[in-house]
Amino acid sequence: MIAPLRNLLNTLLIVLLITSSVSESFARVPSKKAKAAEPIDWRKHFDAGYAAMNRRDYVNAKKELLIAVAGAPREVAAQYYLGIAAAYGNDYQTAQQAMSRVVIMTPTGSEYNKNALQFFKNSQRQIGILQPYPVEADGKLIRWDSRIMPIRVHVTQGLQLPSEFSGDALTMDKFPSLQPYLSRSDFYKRLGQCQGYEPDWYGAALGGLQQWKWAMAEGVLKYQVVPTPQQADIIVFWCPAMVNLSGRTYFSTGVGSKVVVQLCSKMSDAFPKWIKPTLISNTAAHEFGHAWGLAAHSPNIKDLMSPERETIILHYSGGVGHMSAGVTANDCAVLRALYQIPPDVYLTR
Ligand SMILES: [Zn+2]
Repeated sequence: MIAPLRNLLNTLLIVLLITSSVSESFARVPSKKAKAAEPIDWRKHFDAGYAAMNRRDYVNAKKELLIAVAGAPREVAAQYYLGIAAAYGNDYQTAQQAMSRVVIMTPTGSEYNKNALQFFKNSQRQIGILQPYPVEADGKLIRWDSRIMPIRVHVTQGLQLPSEFSGDALTMDKFPSLQPYLSRSDFYKRLGQCQGYEPDWYGAALGGLQQWKWAMAEGVLKYQVVPTPQQADIIVFWCPAMVNLSGRTYFSTGVGSKVVVQLCSKMSDAFPKWIKPTLISNTAAHEFGHAWGLAAHSPNIKDLMSPERETIILHYSGGVGHMSAGVTANDCAVLRALYQIPPDVYLTR
């Protein structure tokens, strides 16, 4: 699966580098020839691709539409018809990636969104069960700027924010006023340990981060754990409890704004001890998903980014329920799609 993906990315990459347009997320292959390139006339290639498709010449249709989406990655029609042409040409890898991009770029219930989701339903034999989901926050696609990667992550060993910012007290209204403190090392010296935090949970939270290592391996994103919170882009704090949540992620779109995650330490005594690190790991993995820019929730309960993953619900009669199986193919598809197109807002430092 990775090899065809690389091929597709390389194709996109070469085209993007020639255009010098939105090449930042594909900037890993240096090319000296790329410098004096003209912007792509995406419309010309779109029309040529569309015409080729009407002639049932799917090879040329895909070729033209790949150039069109490289020139205008946020043009929904270009992505959609690339998906169709690729599928007719039996290139389901390209097709599902293009259709995943359509899903995340379009409002739920819109024509393109419905058609793209229908494509996934109709193509289960070729690509398996896949159901990408929306990732927008307030109608905007948000993600890290690839030029500042690796994204720096720090998990504090049980530090709790001051009471006015801790747990539910940290509202989005207050979040900007917390920001200036987060870059100051003396701020962290004043923070206390969260009640109920256990030393093992540091490793458990990092275990949640590990669920995203496939994204590093594929080059979708790069992150590294840094030794101090003040140098991090994403900081994990702890709080005893929040109403109806076991974790929460906060980000604002101002330049240099750090992403804050709060994980809850307090769990019912009814839970067996062995299960607690797993719950912490699951919640942390979900919150890291938000921190990468998967800002909305999946409607599919099996996905890591389902809202169920940040509410601890266990069914004791029949064993443990609502436990995450980790990152699913849907989660992977939407993260790839998000990092293949320019967002509305870049997270940066
Ligand atoms: Zn969530």
